[in-house]
Amino acid sequence: MNQRSNYEGGGRSGGGGGYGDDDREFGRTPDLNADAPGRRRMGRKRVCRYCADKAMIIDYKDPQALKYFISERGKVVPRRISGNCALHQRKVTLAIKRARQIALLPFTVTA
Ligand SMILES: [Zn+2]
Repeated sequence: MNQRSNYEGGGRSGGGGGYGDDDREFGRTPDLNADAPGRRRMGRKRVCRYCADKAMIIDYKDPQALKYFISERGKVVPRRISGNCALHQRKVTLAIKRARQIALLPFTVTA
């Protein structure tokens, strides 16, 4: 019933033509919902580990503790996943960068 099939000159073939309702749908970035069905939490705690346990200190000379906050490819795990607060996330990233310099942690991990 729609005219989009007869509409010639449309650049995107899969994007859909209508600017009315589809435009609102388009701006919503459905990839986020499509990618993660039923928000899985990978067993990571919601609370900041360092706030929960005051005895823990962020040390760049301790790669075992820092390894928790880097992904398998060596990237720093974002705060929304690691659960750190802003203060400690900043300290963790700083410690990771220092640990990288002295080769305790990798910059990247190539398979
Ligand atoms: Zn904290």
